[in-house]
Amino acid sequence: MTSYKELGLVNTVELFKKAVKGGFAIPAYNFNNMEQLQAIIQACVETKSPVILQVSAGARKYANQTMLQYMAKGAVEYAKELGCNIPIVLHLDHGDSFELCKNCIETGFSSVMIDGSHLPYDENVALTKKVVEFAHSQKDYVSVEGELGVLAGVEDDVSSEHSHYTQPAEVQDFVKKTGVDSLAISIGTSHGRAKFKPEQCTKTADGILIPPPLRFDILEEIEKKLPGFPIVLHGSSSVPIEYVKMIEQYGGKLSDSVGIPEEQLRKAAKSAVCKINIDSDGRLAMTALIRKVLSEKPDEFDPRKYIGPARDELKKLYAHKNKNVLGSAGQA
Ligand SMILES: [Zn+2]
Repeated sequence: MTSYKELGLVNTVELFKKAVKGGFAIPAYNFNNMEQLQAIIQACVETKSPVILQVSAGARKYANQTMLQYMAKGAVEYAKELGCNIPIVLHLDHGDSFELCKNCIETGFSSVMIDGSHLPYDENVALTKKVVEFAHSQKDYVSVEGELGVLAGVEDDVSSEHSHYTQPAEVQDFVKKTGVDSLAISIGTSHGRAKFKPEQCTKTADGILIPPPLRFDILEEIEKKLPGFPIVLHGSSSVPIEYVKMIEQYGGKLSDSVGIPEEQLRKAAKSAVCKINIDSDGRLAMTALIRKVLSEKPDEFDPRKYIGPARDELKKLYAHKNKNVLGSAGQA
């Protein structure tokens, strides 16, 4: 049993209060290896931003839970060494069972998401409540994120699309019954790098897909029902066209890539949205640079020589997000 405080981590409670008040969002960046973690910490120290380090169940399996625990502790010490003791959260992304959440809490996570959004409403409430009761009764309070609404649903046709958005009528009841600290909602963001079908988008003259706008009307209704309550957006990569083009220039193929425009995320960050999840953009940045280096230098076989530039690009991307999209720069 390891408490997150022993690792130097914090939960999300104070961070979200500050973010809601200050009109910015805390970045939630996924990681599963050392270079990603270095890039996140370097960018967040440089921009003086708090950060949520996110680990999915798959990433936890990939990296190993013991490694992760010490990597998180290492991240805290690394930030101090770089000159800024920024608040760092270790968060489970899309926990799918009570057991997984419990296990993460017992091995040093300061925050967990229990995702029961695919379940019938009452089952989602019951599962979320069970995790909340366990997390909040720890000696050191662990924060919990729940979810209402299904993100992937926006890929369906228009008629079934609406039923997948978060229903504002449910949010008050869900938060009251479960006791969650934050709520992930579905207002048109989507997981992955191909967030919409081409037929859902409009096209610019040079063939770039422009997705349908986020449903700010739903967000506003939710804010009215839950004034000041922390809201979370998943699937919020913008899928920068320059990375997609670079990947394709050096032999990759990523057809129909489309993300959420950064201006819309900036607008969301100014509202009750106080955590924005970005994963695909980081994958694209790293892959683009690795492809470029390997293609330009076919005789290179030292991993540091191609993962290093990928790490530098990732750091640049995250610093940009903190400063220009989330507004979290200077808030540590
Ligand atoms: Zn997600």
